[in-house]
Amino acid sequence: MAEPLLCDVAIVGAGIAGSALALALSGHGLSIVVIEAQPHDSAALPSGLALEDFDPRVVALNPRSQALLAQWGAWQGVADYRSCAYRHMTVWDADGTGAIDFDCSDVGATALGHIVENRALVRSLGSQLQTCADIRMLAPERLQACSRDVAGAVLLELESGRQLRAGLAVAADGANSRVRELLDFRTREWDYGHHAIVATVQVEHDHGATAWQRFLPTGPLAFLPLPGTDGAHYCSLVWSIDSAQVEGLMALAGPEFCSVLERAFEQRLGRVLDCSRRHCFPLRQRHALDYVQPGAALVADAAHTIHPLAGQGINLGLQDVAVLAEELLRARQRGEVPGSLAVLKRYQRRRKGENLTMMLAMEGFKRLFEQPALPLRWLRNAGMRGVDRARPLKQRLMQQAMGVVDRE
Ligand SMILES: Cc1cc2nc3c(=O)[nH]c(=O)nc-3n(C[C@H](O)[C@H](O)[C@H](O)COP(=O)(O)OP(=O)(O)OC[C@H]3O[C@@H](n4cnc5c(N)ncnc54)[C@H](O)[C@@H]3O)c2cc1C
Repeated sequence: MAEPLLCDVAIVGAGIAGSALALALSGHGLSIVVIEAQPHDSAALPSGLALEDFDPRVVALNPRSQALLAQWGAWQGVADYRSCAYRHMTVWDADGTGAIDFDCSDVGATALGHIVENRALVRSLGSQLQTCADIRMLAPERLQACSRDVAGAVLLELESGRQLRAGLAVAADGANSRVRELLDFRTREWDYGHHAIVATVQVEHDHGATAWQRFLPTGPLAFLPLPGTDGAHYCSLVWSIDSAQVEGLMALAGPEFCSVLERAFEQRLGRVLDCSRRHCFPLRQRHALDYVQPGAALVADAAHTIHPLAGQGINLGLQDVAVLAEELLRARQRGEVPGSLAVLKRYQRRRKGENLTMMLAMEGFKRLFEQPALPLRWLRNAGMRGVDRARPLKQRLMQQAMGVVDRE
């Protein structure tokens, strides 16, 4: 058996979070290995603007995440490909007259955020990784086993039989994290009772650089703006809906689905002319009780998954990455080892509170909007109208969603 490969930090998963962490740590004298199950894909991304040219998975990145990606050298690649700035956000209640309109000019900004296709972001991060001499990429390679040796280092065994010995193993392997499972991190989790249907839709009217969201009793329905042409207007659809109804919607033929969608969205952008292939994801809230153990840390979806209704998932994940990198690099300057529990606990202390607060807020929103009782409907509509008129409160909410309020 060959000797294990030695490294300071082994990152499992080269999705958005894992790739970003490797870049954030690069250039500081650490040896970094990234393990990714998917093969490296160098095929050019589609440059056309037709329905099937868009990645159905998108994320709404707030300005704070954009700034971090720029700092790690990965924003330019996204900007050079394509993204769509959204300057307004309109949220309204299907059961009443309550609505809130947010506009970036209210907080002196040029955009509230950008809608970015997942694969464009992963590709840009991946290209940047290849320029870093201190990062070794192992792909396709799947983590199979994980344990600790007597000296406290983490031993990682890959499906190919290759072994690694790392001072710190970071789980960036997503919601169903294998690292989390193998190292016995406990989680608190429950089903939201929702699935999300995602797709790209072509609509009749220009989206006006607006992120639209209608709260239905069965779940929120979002139309997020995508780049288009003079004659063709596209949005990314994220329809969170009671799991009981999802099968029926997925089974509809394209034209029927477009008609149902059009009605559910009150034709705010006119007719829904066409829809790409639909994909469906179960939505589960999950939060690890601890993000760290000696020699191991969880980040982003491996540590927490949250309802997509406020588009905060990877925005929180990138904050995890930034804080973990900051603590590891500070520790290195002090001569502490990356896997030290004291160092890792500083990361956990700084991140758990914000993540938990956001998860509770999303759960609260979801429950509030599914209540059919008249007094509650009246209250939430009056509340929305109140927030819409209360400029300082609205500004504060916008700044929080944009990540420009310090919440540590
Ligand atoms: C419908 C929907 C809409 C969303 N919209 C938004 C939004 O608007 N804004 C937002 O901020 N967030 C949004 N999110 C959340 C966001 O998509 C996730 O937070 C983000 O993709 C998580 O990134 P990650 O890098 O942690 O995990 P992942 O993207 O899951 O990456 C994990 C990586 O690990 C690899 N991997 C897994 N297991 C192994 C293994 N054993 N060995 C090696 N490699 C492995 C995988 O191949 C993958 O590349 C949304 C989520 C959903 C479901």
